[in-house]
Amino acid sequence: MALLECKNIDVYYDQVRAVKSVSLSLEEGETITLIGANGAGKSSILKAITGLKNINSGEILFEGEKLNGQSPSKIVEKGIAMTPEGRRVFPYMTVKDNLLMGAFTRKDKDGIAEDLEKVLTKFPRLKERFKQQASTMSGGEQQMMVIGRALMSRPKVLLMDEPSLGIAPKLVQDIARSIVQINKEDKVSVILVEQNSRMALKVSQRAYAMQLGEVLLSGNSKDLIHDERIIELYLGGS
Ligand code: ATP
Repeated sequence: MALLECKNIDVYYDQVRAVKSVSLSLEEGETITLIGANGAGKSSILKAITGLKNINSGEILFEGEKLNGQSPSKIVEKGIAMTPEGRRVFPYMTVKDNLLMGAFTRKDKDGIAEDLEKVLTKFPRLKERFKQQASTMSGGEQQMMVIGRALMSRPKVLLMDEPSLGIAPKLVQDIARSIVQINKEDKVSVILVEQNSRMALKVSQRAYAMQLGEVLLSGNSKDLIHDERIIELYLGGS
């Protein structure tokens, strides 16, 4: 049984069918990626999984249990966290308080303190800037903070929406490294949505290439990185 599964899901915005009968699965311990251009429907899939957007048909299963129809906070409690597109930090709060917001559904004080330590060890930059206002951080630092915030819910699954968007190339490498680490060392299964297809294919085991709301093709990332169609459509022909 897959850890998380979307079965033939449709997502609409009014009359617009943004996601068209998409099926995908995430096995425990895996990192998968959804690649594709703007408007391909990637974010809408993540929003459907987290309960931020209703699906119009199909179903979403987590550990065999139906997820669609449940509230976003219930879904976080079950172990699914998301880092939203565009980062969405709380700008006037400190780094510390931003991180603690990620633990809002938890009551285990000791566990929260332990996870905060882990996040600060993973991202030493956040430790240096712990008491600083979030708005004063660079884009890359804010992205680390948002990843840290998601980890504070101690998720089984982390959904990441475009973590490399608008970030300096050097920091993109750091973020790529932290995705691998979160998957391998922290044993969190990951769904990564990216327009930086090259990075996404490097850090994932499997990929779904999306176009206009549909899955165009899917397979092992290390095969797809050499696939002619993928190279032409998603890797800029290089
Ligand atoms: P992006 O990288 O731009 O977020 P994406 O692949 O994640 O692209 P979605 O954001 O899921 O794609 O968008 C899929 C389609 O749904 C697009 O045609 C988009 O215009 C439409 N859409 C997304 N959000 C809304 C909304 N709030 N209202 C109306 N249409 C929307």
